[in-house]
Amino acid sequence: MAYAVTLIPGDGVGPELSEATRRVVDATGVKINWEVENAGADVVAQYGTPLPQRVLDSIRRTKVALKGPLTTPVGRGFRSVNVALRQELDLYACLRPCKYYRGVRSRYENVDLVVVRENTEDVYAGIEFQEGKPETLELIDDIARLGGGKMPADSGISIKGISTNASRRIVRFAFEYARAHGRKKVTAVHKANIMKFTDGLFLAVATEVAAEYPDIAFEDRIVDNMCMQLVQKPELYDVLVMPNLYGDILSDLCAGLIGGLGVAPGANIGDEIAVFEATHGSAPKYAGQNKVNPTALMLSAVMMLNHLGEREAAARMERAIAEVIAEGKDVTYDLKPTPDDPTAVGTSQMADAIIAHL
Ligand code: NAD
Repeated sequence: MAYAVTLIPGDGVGPELSEATRRVVDATGVKINWEVENAGADVVAQYGTPLPQRVLDSIRRTKVALKGPLTTPVGRGFRSVNVALRQELDLYACLRPCKYYRGVRSRYENVDLVVVRENTEDVYAGIEFQEGKPETLELIDDIARLGGGKMPADSGISIKGISTNASRRIVRFAFEYARAHGRKKVTAVHKANIMKFTDGLFLAVATEVAAEYPDIAFEDRIVDNMCMQLVQKPELYDVLVMPNLYGDILSDLCAGLIGGLGVAPGANIGDEIAVFEATHGSAPKYAGQNKVNPTALMLSAVMMLNHLGEREAAARMERAIAEVIAEGKDVTYDLKPTPDDPTAVGTSQMADAIIAHL
């Protein structure tokens, strides 16, 4: 049986990374009917929007997508297509495994962490009031009237909301993931000592959900302490679950622990739909140069194969990637001892080497 999978090539370095990744996935022998759908700035002229309805329709039909990075223009034009996709499809869980592969240049070797980030609320919900606007001044008055204290009149305001339901489903997701992947411990990350009604709620719900999973250890850490702990002894941690903003920051921190964005995969997952994509962006300055590292998108595709139930092919593909990185020969510039190493190969040559190792 062939699986239908939506492929969004992305822009910048996206198309070359997607093509390299698609070739490796096909070479595993798993049969996939790729529905190629373009999104982003390049399709605006044709469809009037960077996220055409046909892209959403395809993903709703296939339930699984592999996505290259998409550029978000700064300060003009449309809002992030990446964020819009997560919201439209209610992809509430952002899953970012951070595992060290031998041969990657990194300060740490013993890291195998999974960051589970809540994707739908927190300050990312976009409920904001601009400094000086009448409605902002009214809100500042209302907050004072309701006993919330007096804010300076020249404040801008971003609202942080954390709900019981969203907290429960993301913490459950983390425990279910831990159980399904033989993980031993879930750590909830928060700042409940300061934000009692948002992070405090998150922690209370997490503690409640943890009681349903007696086979998985549970602990919590205050986010600032968590950052220090991760830098000093990342090997003590396993699955980390947290609200949106901390997840954004800690996933980059954890990517840094394993050698950077070139090797950090990810997925955005809802109850029915999953979109697999690297943590990194479209690196526009390298577009069309057959230069950047395809590992992050390829490891995202490994997660996709696991999600489809193709565990053997996933393991084979991950092993082939790990072997090529460990050999250090047919790898991109960022995996060489120095970035100007003349023996570095291009994106598609690294894919060829991985295919030869399958
Ligand atoms: P970026 O991740 O695109 O690039 C930052 C730097 O990281 C690059 O210059 C490069 O040195 C390195 N890098 C990234 N990917 C690499 C790879 N595969 N191999 C080797 N090196 C790699 O981040 P940015 O420059 O901040 O963002 C560029 C654009 O991407 C922006 O428009 C941003 O909005 C968008 N973006 C999209 C996504 C997404 O599609 N989910 C995520 C992040 C950023």
